[in-house]
Amino acid sequence: MRLCSYREADGPRPGLVEGDTIVPLAAGSTLDVIRGRAPEVVGDPVPLSSVLLEAPVIPGNAFGIGLNYRAHAAETGQEPPAEPVLFAKMRGTVNRPSGPVVHPDWTRRLDYEGELGVVIGRTAHRVSPVDALDHVFGYLAVNDVSARDRQRSEPQWIRAKSGWGFMPMGPWITSADEAGDPQDLRIRTWVNGELRQDTRTADMIFPVAELVSFASHVFPLEPGDLIATGTPSGVGVGMDPMRFLQPGDIVRIEIDRLGVIEHEVVLP
Ligand code: MG
Repeated sequence: MRLCSYREADGPRPGLVEGDTIVPLAAGSTLDVIRGRAPEVVGDPVPLSSVLLEAPVIPGNAFGIGLNYRAHAAETGQEPPAEPVLFAKMRGTVNRPSGPVVHPDWTRRLDYEGELGVVIGRTAHRVSPVDALDHVFGYLAVNDVSARDRQRSEPQWIRAKSGWGFMPMGPWITSADEAGDPQDLRIRTWVNGELRQDTRTADMIFPVAELVSFASHVFPLEPGDLIATGTPSGVGVGMDPMRFLQPGDIVRIEIDRLGVIEHEVVLP
């Protein structure tokens, strides 16, 4: 299934994306379906083009993973890590797939990171890599927006990674059975139509199963929790000269079989 959340007059409504339409669901939120409630259709389908898509889930906990592609580690001048580097994306980062991303006035080096996002479906606590994917509900595209100057100058990455709206995601969650092998997806990121990132998830240092297993040893991962699995090479800080996001820029991230998110960077 392709599970989305879209805006209605009385708040977000969960739905199933089928072709160019959304089939409305009776569930209170997408989390009910992620937890295993059978999707119950209510009302007539609506055209996908007529609605505003919201973030398809509000994660209880969201992790990012640093340096999970060798070429990205190299472009930032760092050694590939021996084990996954976990950091937090706080709740205030959650953003709809169309954003916008507000450019804070406390950074001069705002950057994009196109990433595969993993949504947990069944509680995962101290699971092995072999069993980890059984706990995944599905996948989506994420922009792990990053303030590079704050990432370098501050020991905690709260501002660098968790500014308001720093995690556009979507456009919907594609269930694991439809997404297929998470290590066989192509990720591409464009800025203003210029292709900046183009990599396959096969190049991850730590594949999704190892990331879920590793994180599940920190604390139990609950349904709806999210892991942004790290970005490939091609970010602005890795370019020569460096190129950072400015108000008016349009970031587009596409992942095979999962869809496209596209959002503008705007002034505060
Ligand atoms: Mg990242």
